[in-house]
Amino acid sequence: MLSIPELIKKKRDGGRLTDEEIRLFIRVVTNRSIQDCQTGAMLMAIRLNGMDQAETRALTQEMMSSGEVMSWPEEWRGRLVDKHSTGGVGDKVSLVLAPMLAACGCKVPMISGRGLAHTGGTLDKLESIPGFKVEQPGAQVHRILASVGCCIVGQTEALVPADRVLYAMRDATSTVDSLPLITGSIISKKGAESLSSLVLDVKFGRAALYKDLCSAKQLAESLVSAGNDLGMRTGAVLSRMDVPIGRCVGNSLEVIEALETLKGNGPDDLLELLTTLGGMLLLMSGRVSSLSEGSTMVSETLTGGAALSKFRAMMEMQGVASEVARSLCSAGTDYHMFLRKAEHQIELKTPRDGTVLDIDGLTLAEVLHTLGAGRSKVGEPVNHSVGAELLVSPGQTVKRGDPWLRVHYEGPPLSPDQTSRLQNILTLADQEQTHVTQQSLVAEIILPQ
Ligand code: URA
Repeated sequence: MLSIPELIKKKRDGGRLTDEEIRLFIRVVTNRSIQDCQTGAMLMAIRLNGMDQAETRALTQEMMSSGEVMSWPEEWRGRLVDKHSTGGVGDKVSLVLAPMLAACGCKVPMISGRGLAHTGGTLDKLESIPGFKVEQPGAQVHRILASVGCCIVGQTEALVPADRVLYAMRDATSTVDSLPLITGSIISKKGAESLSSLVLDVKFGRAALYKDLCSAKQLAESLVSAGNDLGMRTGAVLSRMDVPIGRCVGNSLEVIEALETLKGNGPDDLLELLTTLGGMLLLMSGRVSSLSEGSTMVSETLTGGAALSKFRAMMEMQGVASEVARSLCSAGTDYHMFLRKAEHQIELKTPRDGTVLDIDGLTLAEVLHTLGAGRSKVGEPVNHSVGAELLVSPGQTVKRGDPWLRVHYEGPPLSPDQTSRLQNILTLADQEQTHVTQQSLVAEIILPQ
């Protein structure tokens, strides 16, 4: 077996690492017997020279096996499903999709993350609900899945410890944007959930990690191959991430929009993502025989209230008082009885007549971040109440002076810079341009062979 410096040299010089060599590298990373400078050098060698599919498969497999791999009752086989998104603005899909799938008979052990920089995190959103606990012991996760069918929890220390070490070092060595390293990081964690089927929402556009469809597709294909190689049926959606998803951005506002969606009042773009991702999982797990049948089945869980009941039961099993859960799930409820409202709201007005052509989700998220909605460093607190409601959508005709954005903030008042950045988010077309319509979010679907 080669020594660690020899392994680094092999990758540095463009060689391919064997399964045994990758196993050794991940073992020494996990037990911390490798020097940090050696890990950094190997990461850079991988970043510069890449890995082929077999190396990426071995990396993902070894990372997954570096810690606990969940195990489930035999009778759940084929029904364990989850989705992963590469991160967006206003992306509350997980909050709604997990109970929708549970209402279709799936088991969804959803392990989610926290927000960083301009993208929100599902765990932060859920923590805006009083009492909701995202940290749950393994035995409780089993109980919730057995009785409700879905839970949304944080990652435990025991799951994929190699990723914790590598992720921190990738950040410090500018090797975050390496395709095999991203693939290993994401798919090893999903593999450790022992899923039957996985769907990935790989976003592209102004507010996404990848700005163009072509580079997002390369990531999607790498993730899909690695997931299938691990034995999970894995598919992906390539979806546009330019305009915020739905009408609300910000932790508690997104929970409100998710609850409204569960009550059958969801916005079209969010519904498109939910029915596509949900339909794919039902198809991949063999519960239906076509994507359209799967999409119909998941969307019926919204109209009939079945997904809302699952969300309510999940909240209760994850620590929310039953009175609060019942009230949040009732029709016509005043959400702000339980979800704190920010001290101030301000409405921005349209500067002229026109048709809404574009709303820049990235700038909106960046300004909300400066108002306290997000965090810049791991571990920082977030203000759950800060956010914004879009009062218009692309394609809509507006008159000069109509309110188009309501910003929720705590004070001091918005600075001139924040206000002018927000004003510039909205692009209006001339009144005559009546052909402006809302574009479909889903650009492409990749299903396993
Ligand atoms: N999310 C992860 O968990 N890892 C990455 O490398 C990128 C996104």
